[in-house]
Amino acid sequence: MAYFDNNATTPLFSEVRNAISDSMDSCWANPSSPHRKGLHARACVERARKGIAASLGVNPKFLTFCSGATEANNALVANLASCNQRKGKALVSEIEHPSILESVARSFGKRAEFFSANSEGRVELDEVKDRIERQRPTFVSMIAAHNETGVLQPWREVSEICRGLDIWFHCDATQWIGKLEYDGIELCSSFSFSAHKFGGPKGMGVLVSKKPASWIRGGSQEMDARGGTENLHGIIGLEAAWSMLETFSSSDRTRESWKRKFEEKMAHQFPSIRVVGHKLPRLWNTSLLILPEFQNLCWISKLDKLGYSLSTGSACSSGKHGGSALAKAIGLSLSESSRLVRVSSYWHTTEENWEGLAGAFSLACQELRNDHERNGVISL
Ligand code: PMP
Repeated sequence: MAYFDNNATTPLFSEVRNAISDSMDSCWANPSSPHRKGLHARACVERARKGIAASLGVNPKFLTFCSGATEANNALVANLASCNQRKGKALVSEIEHPSILESVARSFGKRAEFFSANSEGRVELDEVKDRIERQRPTFVSMIAAHNETGVLQPWREVSEICRGLDIWFHCDATQWIGKLEYDGIELCSSFSFSAHKFGGPKGMGVLVSKKPASWIRGGSQEMDARGGTENLHGIIGLEAAWSMLETFSSSDRTRESWKRKFEEKMAHQFPSIRVVGHKLPRLWNTSLLILPEFQNLCWISKLDKLGYSLSTGSACSSGKHGGSALAKAIGLSLSESSRLVRVSSYWHTTEENWEGLAGAFSLACQELRNDHERNGVISL
């Protein structure tokens, strides 16, 4: 089986599994307990916080461990909305993850404004700059790398514009961290990321925020931000995944070239295929394809049987009627949205996997055409 759905989630690194498993034996006490076992657990939590903060170049006090980027984004937006006492505006891109879009709509209501992306899925820096200068929002949010297209967004430039105008800038760095160098991220007012996108456990994320935010009342854990016993094994797993990243970061050019070769082969096999954001800087691992024929679920089912796991787009928007916010924002027709297939590799993906995938698409197409000719019905 070759797994090509890593933007949805990555498999656990074996080193992470070992670290979690060891911690279940040796570091399981409540980090708030006063005895030696508790103090040991507390030391593990704080070691993880300090280590990750040091690589990010931020004060460890800015990091709050939470259940994932969805929680981090929701918490940040709700806190900013309540700090602004129903006055300030939020300005966010239309292609944000639903955890930003929906929480901004809920917390800011009519005070939420949106800027668009072009047809290839990148926000236009000039438009954003102009909107920020004219509208003077109190809060701007931008995704760093898009989860469906992989298109890299101008978050560093927007962060700088906001800094100059003393506007809070939040960056959803969930798909960036774990794949690309993140220098400059420490200059954002806040940012979020998630362990399961880079070989860590699911249900473990981080909000980095320069102003204290507080969202779960109860105990005084996480510096009063988030009450409740810490997810100790999750934090230890996150720390282990984090330390693995340094061993990978030099090989992304080679990996990108494998993806490019795959896209060239696909263009040869299917001359009217479109790769969204083809000419733009994208994550080295992601290709969002608009296939020329047949519904995406038919492709995915055939490819699954051939040993390849792919998805139709964002895991968070699958099952929603009418496609994702991205599909609408970049002006895809319903027919085009229904032919979207996302391919996303990770560090474990080999060149042979990419080559095999192009071959599997060709085989799947043949089978789909045969099904169609035989009975006019595509068998899933
Ligand atoms: N933001 C982006 C850009 C994402 O891709 C995801 C995960 N699909 C999230 C936020 C939510 O992350 P989590 O699964 O940790 O809640």
